[in-house]
Amino acid sequence: MAHVVIIGAGIGGMPAAYEMRDALKKIGKIGKDHEVTVVSNSDTFHFTPSNPWVAVGWRDKEQITIDCAKYLKKKKINFLSCGVDEILADENKLRLGNGQNLDYDYLIVATGPRLAFELVEGMGPEAHTHSICHVDHAEKAYHAFEEFCKNPGPIVVGAVAGVSCYGPAYEYAAILDTELRRRKIRDKVPMTFVTPEPYIGHLGLGGVEDSKALLESELRKRDIKFITNCKVTKVHEHTMDYEEVDRNGETIASGSLDHQFAMLMPPFRGVGAVANCEGLVNPMGFVTINEYQQNPTFKNIYGTGVIVAIPPVEATPLPVGTPKTGFMIESMTTAIVHNIVHDIKGEEPEEVGTWGAICLADFGDGGVALVAYPQIPPRNMVWAKAGKWVHVAKVGFEKYFMRKMKTGNSEPFAEKAFLKRMGITRLKSEE
Ligand SMILES: Cc1cc2nc3c(=O)[nH]c(=O)nc-3n(C[C@H](O)[C@H](O)[C@H](O)COP(=O)(O)OP(=O)(O)OC[C@H]3O[C@@H](n4cnc5c(N)ncnc54)[C@H](O)[C@@H]3O)c2cc1C
Repeated sequence: MAHVVIIGAGIGGMPAAYEMRDALKKIGKIGKDHEVTVVSNSDTFHFTPSNPWVAVGWRDKEQITIDCAKYLKKKKINFLSCGVDEILADENKLRLGNGQNLDYDYLIVATGPRLAFELVEGMGPEAHTHSICHVDHAEKAYHAFEEFCKNPGPIVVGAVAGVSCYGPAYEYAAILDTELRRRKIRDKVPMTFVTPEPYIGHLGLGGVEDSKALLESELRKRDIKFITNCKVTKVHEHTMDYEEVDRNGETIASGSLDHQFAMLMPPFRGVGAVANCEGLVNPMGFVTINEYQQNPTFKNIYGTGVIVAIPPVEATPLPVGTPKTGFMIESMTTAIVHNIVHDIKGEEPEEVGTWGAICLADFGDGGVALVAYPQIPPRNMVWAKAGKWVHVAKVGFEKYFMRKMKTGNSEPFAEKAFLKRMGITRLKSEE
């Protein structure tokens, strides 16, 4: 009997539960021989990639939310929403938010990140900037946006130093531009994009093919000014202090930007329950893993999603982290499921993730799609294209994922199917 526990019910955790359950079913009876339990700190799953749409009213929270217990229980997967307070890795136990302990044989950590708003004074939805990282933040941003539209003024969107997720910042800037033009008030809104990236389109990936030109062109076409190598130092109610650095990271200019509405992506850190587990994490609280997604110290603990530690792709004047995107997370999850089954059978782990990046940056009336395999250069394959079809593809991705979460379909074919749709039938690494 193996009890596999998954912490988190997001883009990593929910598919992990379905895939794990189906893989274990092939080698025993679920509920009798094997058990799968998901512990989240929320009753619901949210499709995070749609948050930028929620933040302009193109989606509401209900459309991208599902009740975890309802769908997981159909597949005989146990579900607890009390959260995990502590991982007692030496004892193979979790201390839960309800005060009880839960034993596990294998643990999959899929908690996503803690949003470290405290790293810049005045940042975050409790202070002076909005966030799209959680659906509740995105909802709050939408209500504020409606108020803003009654009395428009300058907008600042972007990311602070240390961020590892840039796509949503570009998306939100362009989506706001699209929505403001639809409302015919774009002429009343000076917009600025701020980013620690050394150039537009770096994305924490060292750029992907022509991403610099494509994204710069988008910003120019949309009349969005931009400041790169930019470190936001403090946010006030209607202004934002920043410094611009040179290639050595030395400050070469400083200034203040006015804002009536602002959204800044925060740096990510490990959530408390994970970050406090000695031996499991790096200094930023992310789970360290080997090529099999397995923690080197606690070999029965695996990590998938944003909580996994990966190094930056290259040195940059300001810290710029590497993103972890949906399809990559799917491939990490599949590798974990196979490796746990190998371990149960007494075999060595052998499955590795594809570690490629597929980014769909939707702008509402167009978008940019980027593909990089592997995501860390030098690469076997890069691909970048812009067009209206990106919006359609992103809607398709949302539909696919929401359906998958409701049906419990554990087929991890999205990555390959997506590449095939784009005419990329074989990865160079497979030739
Ligand atoms: C705004 C935004 C847009 C994005 N858009 C895209 C996109 O278009 N395409 C793409 O490929 N990637 C995108 N990403 C990147 C990535 O796909 C998402 O961040 C994704 O949600 C990460 O999945 P995850 O499972 O690691 O974390 P999450 O989906 O955030 O899930 C984490 C889960 O862990 C739970 N949890 C947290 N702490 C605890 C605890 N102590 N105990 C129990 N449970 C806990 C949470 O409640 C949640 O259920 C985007 C990211 C953001 C922030």
